Amino acid sequence: MKPRETRNFRNSGPQFMLDGRQRRLPSTSRHATIIIETYVTRFTRQEDCYSTGKNSRMPREMRKEMLNTVHECHLGMEKCKARARNTIYWPGMSSAIKIFISRCKTCNRFKKRQQKEPLIPHDLPDRPWKKLGMDLFEYGAKDYLVVVDYYSKYPEISLHKRKPESEMITHLLSILARHGILETIVSDNQPFSSREFKDFARKWDSELCTSSPTNPQSNGLSERAVQTVKNIIRKSAEEASDPYIALLEYRNAHIAGMNYSPAQLLMSGTLRSRLPAKSTSLMPRIAKDACGQLRMSRHAYITSMQNR
Ligand SMILES: [Zn+2]
Repeated sequence: MKPRETRNFRNSGPQFMLDGRQRRLPSTSRHATIIIETYVTRFTRQEDCYSTGKNSRMPREMRKEMLNTVHECHLGMEKCKARARNTIYWPGMSSAIKIFISRCKTCNRFKKRQQKEPLIPHDLPDRPWKKLGMDLFEYGAKDYLVVVDYYSKYPEISLHKRKPESEMITHLLSILARHGILETIVSDNQPFSSREFKDFARKWDSELCTSSPTNPQSNGLSERAVQTVKNIIRKSAEEASDPYIALLEYRNAHIAGMNYSPAQLLMSGTLRSRLPAKSTSLMPRIAKDACGQLRMSRHAYITSMQNR
């Protein structure tokens, strides 16, 4: 590259979107400029975003920002590595992610609080959005409704005003209009055994299973989903970041022991996030062996519980 071309290259672009802003790729030396040019040539420009090809390396100048983006919602080590592997690459990336997370102040502060109670294994539905769990929680003087799909583990949350059942039902209806009518919904007794909820379930052709002294049942998956969502909100509050971006990343992150995310299992696709992505990777793709993977993951979990 001639000096004049190098200067033009530095001044006029290339640009990419990060943290919602358009930025220039840093180029402080001739060497860096050549690396960036190679990178840009290999990567495909799509909608102002450079996305990865398998053999493309992220330039050194961008790696720190990419580590921040991969870990901006403070998901665990394995989820962050899996998210990164699907979108970006440079030699030693896994080790860099490991070191980055081990030094994360927010994660270290929440480590003890994040220890989870073992989840009692539940029967697997044979398809997505057939059986759901729901639960409520309070955080920062606000009430949240959490709904989770037993198949994909995809969580939906809604913020609502205190108590009135009619408002919670409106939120539920909005969720059902988005994903379809469920067959069974599992919940604690209160407030879901109210007349309003029973009428809602009847009208929407769904079975409402609430726990009661004569019908004790585990609502463990919903409680686990509440724990996850609460952690996402807490960490976002700690960093004054947007919890909805973190929720988006969680929906895109692989389920432990699987090659699929909740979004892939429920909607057969990856949701566009702030990580670089090719348009082709955002195309719908059926998770053909999902049932088998779910069964194996469940079996591995039960075995690990028995060996504790
Ligand atoms: Zn962290």
